[in-house]
Amino acid sequence: MARPDQQLLGKNRIPKQARIARFIETWLGAPLHALELILNWLLVKPTRWFWRHLDGLSYKLEGTFLRKVLSHTVFPFTILLSLFLGFKLIENGISSLTILGFALIPIIFGLYCAPLERLMPYSRKWLEGGNDTAVDTIMYVSGAFWSGISGLIVSALFIVGMVEALEPYGHGLWPSDWNPIVQVFLFILIKDFFRYWFHRALHEIPALWRIHAAHHSVERLYWLNGIRAHPLEIISQALWYAIPLALVQPSAEIALVAVIMQLSIGIFQHSNIDLELGWWEYVFSIGDNHRYHHYPDKGVGDSNYGGEFIVWDILFGTFHNPRDERPHDNIGIGTAPEYPMTVAGLYIAPFMPNQKGVFRDRSAISDDDTADAAQVSDTTLQPAE
Ligand SMILES: [Zn+2]
Ligand SMILES: [Zn+2]
Repeated sequence: MARPDQQLLGKNRIPKQARIARFIETWLGAPLHALELILNWLLVKPTRWFWRHLDGLSYKLEGTFLRKVLSHTVFPFTILLSLFLGFKLIENGISSLTILGFALIPIIFGLYCAPLERLMPYSRKWLEGGNDTAVDTIMYVSGAFWSGISGLIVSALFIVGMVEALEPYGHGLWPSDWNPIVQVFLFILIKDFFRYWFHRALHEIPALWRIHAAHHSVERLYWLNGIRAHPLEIISQALWYAIPLALVQPSAEIALVAVIMQLSIGIFQHSNIDLELGWWEYVFSIGDNHRYHHYPDKGVGDSNYGGEFIVWDILFGTFHNPRDERPHDNIGIGTAPEYPMTVAGLYIAPFMPNQKGVFRDRSAISDDDTADAAQVSDTTLQPAE
């Protein structure tokens, strides 16, 4: 009989031939596996009956006026709510209460986004995730930890010297007398320019793609897994962001509201709620834009790199969202369909010899591999580059 963790984790374990990686994942990753099982038992199992109930209601909601209203209003409502909460939190400056409220915001979004995914899903297949909610919860908390470490590294190594070095190029030019909402979006737009090029490099440089593959290993999109990223990606991105931070220097309050906005837009980047986004999809990197980005075929997936805005993709020719079709839901890494799906596995995957397939583009895949990849590909996929 299969062990419970084998049943739970399915086929996406590290293959047998990678003995060292398998040893590390099994024994050094044991405490993380235990945590995944505990979280799965605490978070996923108790909510199952509630989700089943909502799944039943979702069929009744199909085609109703209420669903139409919700599909048009949920995203703008969240943007307005984020702005309101963000400026409320900084009303009296930044205190420990601000930080607490800041930490609670993803939970507030999750409390209505998770049920809405069940009530009006884009893909019913994406409603079933095995143990990934437990893995993503740990990735979320550990991601916050790595962000904190990155912040310390950046301030220790770069920020002071870089502020001085970049001073002649723009420091002091920040329009602090502009409307605060405009300042927030301007800051995100500038930061997103840097995110665009960093994200594009992660896809186009093979060694970096190996690190970014952890994010693309997800086999479904839902509100929580937008934050799944390898620590090396989090740290290297923080170092890269030191340039815009040193250059434009907005106030700490504006930067904090911008992070809240980034969190809320990030939820709609991966959300499985079927929304009528209309022209919002030509402004923000959300909805179908990001579903195409997660295609297993890099010919389509190497597009829509924007973190929050999509305007840089439109400007630099990497925007992909054909008007007359909707993306399918067979996502993942076409070149590495056996990518590990545990926290320990995700952490060590970039260094595993058996993950060398992640390096290759589809033109380099053998016939056998192509047959494997075809299981997760759709016949309507465009040819690989
Ligand atoms: Zn990507
Ligand atoms: Zn993503």
